[in-house]
Amino acid sequence: MSLDINCLDLSNGLEDVPVSVRRISATGTRPEFVYSPDNVQGPGCTLDPSEVSLPGCSCLSHLCVPESCSCLQTHGPAYDTTGTLLNLSGSDSGYCSPVFECNALCTCSDACSNRVVQKGLRLRLEVYCTKNMGWGVQTLEAIPKGTFVCEYAGEVISFEEARRRQLAQRSAENNYIIAVREHAGTGSISETFVDPAMVGNVGRFLNHSCRPNLFMQPVRVHSVVPRLALFAARNIDAQEELMFDYSGGYSNQPPAELLPTNSENGLQAKGIGGLQRKQCHCGADNCVQFLPLDLSILN
Ligand SMILES: [Zn+2]
Ligand SMILES: [Zn+2]
Ligand SMILES: [Zn+2]
Repeated sequence: MSLDINCLDLSNGLEDVPVSVRRISATGTRPEFVYSPDNVQGPGCTLDPSEVSLPGCSCLSHLCVPESCSCLQTHGPAYDTTGTLLNLSGSDSGYCSPVFECNALCTCSDACSNRVVQKGLRLRLEVYCTKNMGWGVQTLEAIPKGTFVCEYAGEVISFEEARRRQLAQRSAENNYIIAVREHAGTGSISETFVDPAMVGNVGRFLNHSCRPNLFMQPVRVHSVVPRLALFAARNIDAQEELMFDYSGGYSNQPPAELLPTNSENGLQAKGIGGLQRKQCHCGADNCVQFLPLDLSILN
């Protein structure tokens, strides 16, 4: 189905701000998928991401403070009072601290600064046809560094289902499945697979870049299933295309698993590459010419 309308809300009113769609190319056709602002339970996922499975704080004030809040004491404050992510070092090292927001069981109010990603899309974004990378996402307003931009939402599926879908994929198709591997301090590793191909949000239109302006940070709100939140890695101008590194790196750092693993927590996000490497058209001066590929996921 072609997009004849110059501008419409891709989210069909499901986001607080509309997601514009602009057709600027004759080849632009409307992709077939179901819009969902949040993760949904997919095949093989034993946990429903919409269920509350984390404990809450019992703060008596509307705004949580580290001196008295059990959420902030357990996990440390993740945001400043304006909701900007405090620890941006993860974007450089491939590692990041886990983020736990106040949740449905917390007694604080919506104004608590430990509630950011759960508030959903706040920025005016536009899905458009790029010159040589198909669909992409640009911002219609300037975004300060550390600001939450959007989630990469989709079906949360098991490793086996991710592998099955990846093998069934035809080489010409876009690959969407992101695998996030988190290394806990105890040495345990948790993996989350999100596929927004059939059910997803605006994040599914983000292109890969070898020099991205967004980075991915797993954020837990009500559920132990993380949300894959994308934050501005630097100040971003209006009309800039938004992109992240499908391999989880930033500034083309080596993949997290090649770095020393004594860090408390590590994040590794990667697209499950097609069996044939796809060319990268990001145009960055450090571009490695191919989209990230990781076959270890298939072993
Ligand atoms: Zn709170
Ligand atoms: Zn609290
Ligand atoms: Zn709380």
